[in-house]
Amino acid sequence: MQQRLKENIERVLTNIAEAAQKSGRSATDIKLVAVSKTVSIDIIRLAYNEGLVDFGENRVQELTAKYPELAEANWHLIGHLQRNKVKYIVDKVKMIHSVDSVSLAEEISKRAIAFGKVIDILVQVNVSEEKTKFGIKLGELEQFLNDVGSLKGLKIRGLMTMAPFTFDMDRVRWVFRTLKEKFDEIKTMDIAGVKMDYLSMGMSNDYMVAIEEGANIVRIGSSIFGVR
Ligand SMILES: *Cc1c(COP(=O)(O)O)cnc(C)c1O
Repeated sequence: MQQRLKENIERVLTNIAEAAQKSGRSATDIKLVAVSKTVSIDIIRLAYNEGLVDFGENRVQELTAKYPELAEANWHLIGHLQRNKVKYIVDKVKMIHSVDSVSLAEEISKRAIAFGKVIDILVQVNVSEEKTKFGIKLGELEQFLNDVGSLKGLKIRGLMTMAPFTFDMDRVRWVFRTLKEKFDEIKTMDIAGVKMDYLSMGMSNDYMVAIEEGANIVRIGSSIFGVR
């Protein structure tokens, strides 16, 4: 397992470096979040010992269970978050990638203030406007950022999206490119409390395309830990 894991990590890092170079950047410009959902803490620790420091979980319960076992890592909440669960993770997360409503943002801010912390968040955008996906629509993003940017307990650091489930890579690329354009546009707007530092897009099937199109955070699970 350890040897396989090591090879997987090396391969992913090589691919990241290659894609970064294609887009005029270097590997150090790209943050790898290893998506560790369903992976045991022992395996996660092996990955940590291989040099990975950022781990992503999509369920609150799983994150809170694993966090105390490896508190020195950076934990990212990447999946849909219910308001009533925010209180369990404010003290544990490095970043929340999946903020998709004003009420959720308000709850995060409230809990963060109570804890004496400012939480970095990304706004999840539903670029392809699929009914089954969470996220703010592109056309509503600017208003959303204006509504949420002034909240004192959080800092908006960028955007996140998930590409549609399709083998049509042209369509996937279009989604990434469209969000990158919006990201750059918002950057020039200077909205209070809003910074565009991070663009979180790309998973095992499409991270090289995402990086070519401007992602600087990729969330990779199965290519590192094996198929779930
Ligand atoms: C599971 C998951 C990933 C990683 O998916 P893989 O295909 O295993 O790389 C990325 N982002 C989110 C939000 C996820 O839930």
